[in-house]
Amino acid sequence: MGGLPIICIADSGYLAGVTIKLNEDGNMTTQHDTLKAKLQQQTPLLWLNPNYQRPTNTEVPVTLAAIRSAENDLARYAPLLEALFPELTNSAGIIESKLLALPAFNQQHWQANASTGALYIKADHALPIAGSIKARGGIYEVLVIAEQLAIKQQLISAGDTPLALLSDAAKTLFADHTISVGSTGNLGLSIGVMTAALGFNAVVHMSADAKPWKKQRLTDRGVTVVEHQGDYASAVAAGREQALSNPQSHFIDDEHSLPLFLGYSVAALRLKAQLAEQHITVDKQHPLFIYIPCGVGGAPGGITFGLKQLFGDHVHCFFAEPTDAPCMLVQLALSDNDQSSTSVYDIGLKNKTDADGLAVASASLLVASMMRPLVSGIYTLPDNDLYRWLYRLKDAEGISVEPSSAAGFAGPQWLLSSAAGKHYLDQQGITDAMPNSTHIVWTTGGRFVPANEYDEFYKLGQKMCDLQTRVKNNQDM
Ligand SMILES: *Cc1c(COP(=O)(O)O)cnc(C)c1O
Repeated sequence: MGGLPIICIADSGYLAGVTIKLNEDGNMTTQHDTLKAKLQQQTPLLWLNPNYQRPTNTEVPVTLAAIRSAENDLARYAPLLEALFPELTNSAGIIESKLLALPAFNQQHWQANASTGALYIKADHALPIAGSIKARGGIYEVLVIAEQLAIKQQLISAGDTPLALLSDAAKTLFADHTISVGSTGNLGLSIGVMTAALGFNAVVHMSADAKPWKKQRLTDRGVTVVEHQGDYASAVAAGREQALSNPQSHFIDDEHSLPLFLGYSVAALRLKAQLAEQHITVDKQHPLFIYIPCGVGGAPGGITFGLKQLFGDHVHCFFAEPTDAPCMLVQLALSDNDQSSTSVYDIGLKNKTDADGLAVASASLLVASMMRPLVSGIYTLPDNDLYRWLYRLKDAEGISVEPSSAAGFAGPQWLLSSAAGKHYLDQQGITDAMPNSTHIVWTTGGRFVPANEYDEFYKLGQKMCDLQTRVKNNQDM
């Protein structure tokens, strides 16, 4: 075993036998080719980031101070949010999710013994207003745009209470302005609902992957939904183009926006406080592992960036992507830099997945360049496994998530049971610390999925789990 195990491949998903691919000679081309072939075959795998912890020349446009400032802004905006949305009364206008232990799920699906540490979820699937991880970033950027516009038009002065943004004068001003966004669904829900609530014209450009109920929910709130035949990137491009031709229009650009990224990253500060409240220590002897589904990269990237600022080498962040849409993996593993994009189409994949929140063919280059030295690794999983985890979570805990949101659950298995995962722990010198480790699966969306659609997901998951049990029993006989 002279080489470096960079990728690890499961033969058929959950609980499957795991084989290891060794890179014997350390030659990058060989490594790329092996990985590329496996990605093309849509083989689920764990890729360890060879640039993790390596210094880079990239100038990072975000600081911890900027994240704290975004958190302060959100605290200032809280009374306004509370006034607009009665569901925020209990939290006094703060949009935040719980950090939850899962006792029943742990018993059934997590070796809840001393050797593996503790498993939690960060329950963004339940976030109010938007019903997904997009709530913090999207709502934050809309409020920043609204406040800046009101200051520029001398409706308010910097430092005035943001409640002034609810005045009739502000409403009249906003009615002359448009805020638009391109989305596969959830970002549109977050931004569209907030935008319409303030009285702006709201336009959401939806990709072909977007679920009809997400479009309907927006239309019901007076948001204009523009449907596109193409994928997420083409919906974003169309929105960007249309906004350019209208000076009263603001386009929220998921591929490039810093305010959006900062809004997402505020979750890191909030999580740190929650860990402290629950007396969960994070240090070399108590490593923290995070598993987050990744689409274009903004939400998982923002959170990872924030957590790395707060916990440094003691937090280990892994992203989850569908086997047919692993855009961040392709960008980080198959491009040597982030000046230009390598998409999943470039290697012959189709970007077809039921995980609409993750149906993105090209990662944000801004986020990719920041993640290069920060993300520990990325694993892929097929849609069938998304449904399986969705089902198991509901079955054990009564928690409903959407398919994209279930992707995080495959992570701990990869880390703890695969050769690549074990290699990572060894390399980091934390194998012995694993009994004290904390694992957080980020559940990223699902609150507003209509019951009938959720039922379909659940039944499919149940069927997939039964199938797996039957296959396993046959093998055992
Ligand atoms: C958008 C989304 C993600 C990923 O966020 P990106 O910023 O696109 O990487 C994950 N899960 C759900 C449910 C989402 O809607």
